[in-house]
Amino acid sequence: KVVLAPIGIEAQSSLRTLPRYECDSPGAAAHKFSRGMALVRAGPMRGAAGLAASAVLRAGAGYAILSGASGAPLSAIIAEDGDHFAERLADERLGAVVIGPGYPASDALDRDVAAALKSGRALVLDAAAIVSALPRLGGAPAILTPHAGEFARAFPGLEGSKIDRARAAASKSGAVVIYKGADTIVAAPDGRIAAAWPGCPWLATAGTGDVLAGACAAMLARGDEAFDAAVAAVSWHISRARAIGPGLVADDLVRA
Ligand code: AMP
Ligand code: MG
Repeated sequence: KVVLAPIGIEAQSSLRTLPRYECDSPGAAAHKFSRGMALVRAGPMRGAAGLAASAVLRAGAGYAILSGASGAPLSAIIAEDGDHFAERLADERLGAVVIGPGYPASDALDRDVAAALKSGRALVLDAAAIVSALPRLGGAPAILTPHAGEFARAFPGLEGSKIDRARAAASKSGAVVIYKGADTIVAAPDGRIAAAWPGCPWLATAGTGDVLAGACAAMLARGDEAFDAAVAAVSWHISRARAIGPGLVADDLVRA
């Protein structure tokens, strides 16, 4: 479980401050599946899904499957399973599924998103998968991870501060929303909010969002409910970035 502790971010009246990420060691009797298992669906840009799958493991889950990909991400089990994603979703041990990293809008994406929704698994939806899933979410347990451009496409016409818009998006979608950027807001449909400020600007580099999506899946697979999982993942992400510092690239977040 994640231990939530305050970090040096100024509390604002209605906000929870970003907790520092701390991770208990696995119990003595742990095995890879008891530590949590997540499935990452690869799109055409497989490196992105590979980063997410590596992050599943580095953020503390015991087993990551990268579906529909060849190539070698760090330690994730690779399934070159082409059209068999739906079968993989039936694995009872799955705690979370990630779709979106490196997967532009397409009929194939819509099919995979539909299959994932049908499975009833906890989902992490990133990039184009957010817009694809939104009309069909129907209260499914999900974390959405839009950056500003993706947020504007998914939730057009919202007004107010970034916090107001994140909260409205969570309420509208029924999902937990991680509204990324220089400051990151995490919002739950029930009104809970966490804010990460300041972030770590070295994160402004390709692939770091894919790592965050994988970290969210790790926290879900380890048993956190969606809001706590999202807060823990954002916290893990920024903690790693601060520890690495200048010159950070996305691979460092999972290798360091
Ligand atoms: P993406 O846009 O999907 O590649 O995700 C980028 C990641 O880097 C997200 O977690 C953002 O919150 C983070 N990020 C981007 N720009 C900044 C910034 N200027 N300061 C802090 N974090 C950032
Ligand atoms: Mg991204």
